[in-house]
Amino acid sequence: MKIKAVTVILCFAMSVIFAGCASAVPSKLPKGNTCEPGLAPASDSEVDKKEKVGQMPRKVEKTDAEWKAELTPEQYSVARQKGTERAFTGKYYDSHAEGVYKCVCCGAELFSSEQKYDSGSGWPSFWAPHAKGNVGEETDNTHGMARTEVICTQCGAHLGHVFDDGPKPTNQRFCINSASLKLDEKK
Ligand code: FE
Repeated sequence: MKIKAVTVILCFAMSVIFAGCASAVPSKLPKGNTCEPGLAPASDSEVDKKEKVGQMPRKVEKTDAEWKAELTPEQYSVARQKGTERAFTGKYYDSHAEGVYKCVCCGAELFSSEQKYDSGSGWPSFWAPHAKGNVGEETDNTHGMARTEVICTQCGAHLGHVFDDGPKPTNQRFCINSASLKLDEKK
């Protein structure tokens, strides 16, 4: 009996420790407002969405196999399967180069260096889109959080999430994955 009790206590302690690690978020951000739900893409059953932009036909439609062939594994995982790159690992989170950030999938103009700022989150952050019509928003209730997903309206690519803790004048923080972007640098 004694051994059984010790085993139960140990299991409980371990699960508390692992749960703590999994929910660790950058200290600068309010809990639940991070882009980081983990790298695993959401399965269809997890996705409960109500589209704000409606079920508009995409201008760029490709099969899953075509996207897979065109993109790197990370780009495919993030942009087509709604994954999230690890904080402080992406190509653009610390980039100060001038230019327009385009969709890695279809090339639509999305964000500009003019609205980019350092949020400290480890992901490229913008206080507004560059081309509003190309940046759509959808409700995302996956991973036990109520968040607003940001997508490319032209091809449906997952870009990241938007939060209301950004700087003025919009107070918005578009928290975007580098893997979904391609910077067209100003010459
Ligand atoms: Fe796109």
